[in-house]
Amino acid sequence: MEVYKFGGTSVGSIENMRSVMKLITDGKQKMVVLSAMSGTTNSLVEISDYLTKKNKESALAQISMLEKKYYNVVFDLFKSAEMKDCGKKILEEHFDFIKAFTTGTFSEAGERSILAQGELISTALFTLLMQEEGFNATLLPALEFMKVDADKMPDSRFIKQKLNEILASRPKADYYITQGFICKNELGEIDNLQRGGSDYTATLIGAAISSSEVQIWTDIDGFHNNDPRFVENTKRVDVLSFNEAAELAYFGAKILHPQTVLPAKNNNIPVRLKNTMNPPDPGTLITAESKGAGIKAVAAKDGITAIKIRSGRMLNAYGFMKNIFEIFEYFKTSVDMVTTSEVAVSVTIDNPKHLEEIVNELKEYGDVEVDKNQTIVCIVGNMIAEEKGFASRVFIALENIPIRMISYGGSRHNISVLVNTNDKKETLVALSEKLLNI
Ligand code: ASP
Ligand code: MG
Repeated sequence: MEVYKFGGTSVGSIENMRSVMKLITDGKQKMVVLSAMSGTTNSLVEISDYLTKKNKESALAQISMLEKKYYNVVFDLFKSAEMKDCGKKILEEHFDFIKAFTTGTFSEAGERSILAQGELISTALFTLLMQEEGFNATLLPALEFMKVDADKMPDSRFIKQKLNEILASRPKADYYITQGFICKNELGEIDNLQRGGSDYTATLIGAAISSSEVQIWTDIDGFHNNDPRFVENTKRVDVLSFNEAAELAYFGAKILHPQTVLPAKNNNIPVRLKNTMNPPDPGTLITAESKGAGIKAVAAKDGITAIKIRSGRMLNAYGFMKNIFEIFEYFKTSVDMVTTSEVAVSVTIDNPKHLEEIVNELKEYGDVEVDKNQTIVCIVGNMIAEEKGFASRVFIALENIPIRMISYGGSRHNISVLVNTNDKKETLVALSEKLLNI
């Protein structure tokens, strides 16, 4: 069974929902993962922020705006009065649930429960729409099988066992509809796979049911070779290996949630990125094999902080790195780039939540310097390290840009440079002009 995932824009209007229905109903059984309608999760985040700040009036105003929008959707989406009533009942249930949080104290668990409502509503309405149109569609509640552990990592064994159990225990359907993004955590509370997490849901499900392919449908025709928001004339990349796609997703390509590739890679399930607005387009295929040599694409990730630790104690010493990295581990902060010299080490982090504490601890080991507002620009391709002259071409392309760090040789697929965020656009344009479009 194939898994198809549709993002917020793909289910963002009645017209688009109907297009999705047309697209999936080709007679082949499918698992369909849906996001919330576009704008909904942001709106739910706003409601939660108001509630956290005890601003009940603004929360209620925002809830009522969202509610109105959905009542209009239900009114126009369904044909029969009976189905319109069913749709209204679904909305009533979910909006009563959200409104209940406007009284009493508001916790983080409450926030996570509110954030889940977007996917719960979109999937319930979509399943009803398919049933009204006479298709054999069933709603599978993701909260019954999608689970993360105490470290927020998906519990793949549980997901596989539970999902297959649920599928075996129900009458066979042609189309199984389920929620992206949402899950339960180790305490049994409602949780999520982080913003944009519906992509991740799709490959986790793909792995759990040994799917032949996972298709991720969005509003762009696949991975582009550069960031279309900053560079003109970017081109779609036809094929990427799992590793190449993982690097691009992790280092900033907005099209895919960073962790999405992992379950597909571990289970060797091809992933295809497709465009809902242009279904015949083949999109980008992500598979085990990398096709073609040379540079495939670049991506940029903002919000990076560089930390340099300079110490005489590094000279000929062992265990120095371990001590440094233990500090990051203690504060649950992941390190992305690392460069070292004999007397200093520089690392980058993308989560500055514990920056102050980390810096204080690091001071034990030497002088510490912090540079904020940095951007990682990641250049991805195949067998980069074996290609003669490759590094020099990258550096010539970037000759006018001050580079704070360079990481090369960590894998065969990647060169990363750290630049000031003010220089990002120039960096991306230079790479396009001098490396990609030749
Ligand atoms: N609805 C969630 C979000 O907006 C998850 C997703 O769309 O992938 O982040
Ligand atoms: Mg997305």
